[in-house]
Amino acid sequence: MASNSRNHYLAWLRDAHAMEKQALSSIEAQIPRLQKTFPDVAARLTQHHQETDAQLVQIQRVLERHDTDASMVKDLAATAMATTQALGGMLATDEPVKAALMLVTFEHLEIASYRCLISAAEVCGDTASVPIFEAILDEEVAMADWLEARLGGLAQQFLLDADVDAQAEALADGNA
Ligand code: MG
Ligand code: FE
Repeated sequence: MASNSRNHYLAWLRDAHAMEKQALSSIEAQIPRLQKTFPDVAARLTQHHQETDAQLVQIQRVLERHDTDASMVKDLAATAMATTQALGGMLATDEPVKAALMLVTFEHLEIASYRCLISAAEVCGDTASVPIFEAILDEEVAMADWLEARLGGLAQQFLLDADVDAQAEALADGNA
């Protein structure tokens, strides 16, 4: 493959590696926040955390197959982190509806990234990696679809709970 294409492709791979690392810490931060009120969401995120762990290993293997030095991965990943960190930082919210919106957004970043990687791998002749990216893409799409289907119910439950809390507070004030 031409060295220019290859360099871009490898850079995108390192970006994907950094993105998955960010995904791990974002998911880790959200699970305890959602556990109590939305245990099904926490459970689905726990499953996706395991998937993300495995995705990281797969991306690492693809990088190694291209003889990409591990320390180089670290250095360039730090740069790539800057692009995903802003989004990752936004995930650090205590409000479950906002957290869910951010998680959906992050999944769509991942979906877009793997679609680009599939096309890039094809152009660069790295056909062995295409099924790996396709399998990861399926997991990201499933996670995004699940969250999107759950969003409306999550928002409703959050609002109803907020009203119940407000009523309880008003009652407590009235009794004081
Ligand atoms: Mg992922
Ligand atoms: Fe994901």
